Amino acid sequence: MRAELIDGKAIAETIRNEVAADVAVLAARGIVPGLTVVLVGDDAASATYVGAKEKASKAAGMNGDTIRLPAATSQEELLALVEHLNADPAVHGILVQMPLPKHIDPDTVIRHILPEKDVDGFHPVNVGKLLIGHTDGFVSCTPAGVIELLVRSGVDTRGAEAVIVGRSNIVGKPMAALLVQGRAGGDATVTVCHSRTRDLAVHTKRADILIAAIGRAEMITGDMIKPGAVVIDVGMNTKPDATKAKGTRLCGDVHFESAVEVASKITPVPGGVGPMTIAMLLRNTVRAAERTLSVAVR
Ligand code: NAP
Repeated sequence: MRAELIDGKAIAETIRNEVAADVAVLAARGIVPGLTVVLVGDDAASATYVGAKEKASKAAGMNGDTIRLPAATSQEELLALVEHLNADPAVHGILVQMPLPKHIDPDTVIRHILPEKDVDGFHPVNVGKLLIGHTDGFVSCTPAGVIELLVRSGVDTRGAEAVIVGRSNIVGKPMAALLVQGRAGGDATVTVCHSRTRDLAVHTKRADILIAAIGRAEMITGDMIKPGAVVIDVGMNTKPDATKAKGTRLCGDVHFESAVEVASKITPVPGGVGPMTIAMLLRNTVRAAERTLSVAVR
């Protein structure tokens, strides 16, 4: 059996269209959602992500703004900018692109962003709200996007054995919190694996839903997957490819060619989880704008 592909590109486009419709409703009430992204330094990958975020927010009818600061910007200067954005009523969402230069502490910066403008969902208040099941916070975009992929692909998570490989604060841990909570896309029995997990394959082979968020190219192979499992590949790695001009190509944490023969559904890389992250960022920004009106558009 060859697995069905979960088309993240198509699902993300549906969400972006829903967001654009919500933006139009808000705009008719005099509020144009605004997302400001702050980029410190000239990391090429970060510059690409930031450009994509600005383009997507404008395409959805929002105000998308990018503030580019030199790598030598001090932590105090960055914090002052965050405070300025916190106070600006036209800015509903603030995102400081990671990684930051070494002399700036990312946690200090994240804690400075008002939780109600933290559309990345990284502020401790938002992380806490996720854990206790309060829905008025913001959830980290990548794991929130994975839940949307599962729900919109008709995957029933209730009672399923969900195994997550990776325990980072931006993917693995919020992913576990979402899958375990008692609502749509949740109610799973969750196992979280990491680099100290003994015999990883014992766990991955039990999974009805396997989520790989490791950052190691093609580490999860078909023989580590239970037949019929749903496989979500969060990984974004590169591997050598002489046929490409760059000499490399994008690949996930899952060895796609062997996994696709075992799984029932699988996300490709690219075109799976990746497009969902920006779609969920836009949705969080609309929610942030909506909350200033104390209305729910959707
Ligand atoms: P991370 O912070 O580096 O975390 C990686 C996790 O994998 C850690 O918990 C680590 O365990 C675990 N791990 C590493 N080697 C392992 C091994 N051999 N066996 C089992 N677990 C192992 O990475 P991240 O930020 O969560 O990102 C993970 C991947 O997702 C990366 O490829 C990243 O590029 C990608 N990503 C994609 C998107 C998207 O939009 N598509 C967004 C975010 C991230 P320890 O905690 O024990 O070290």
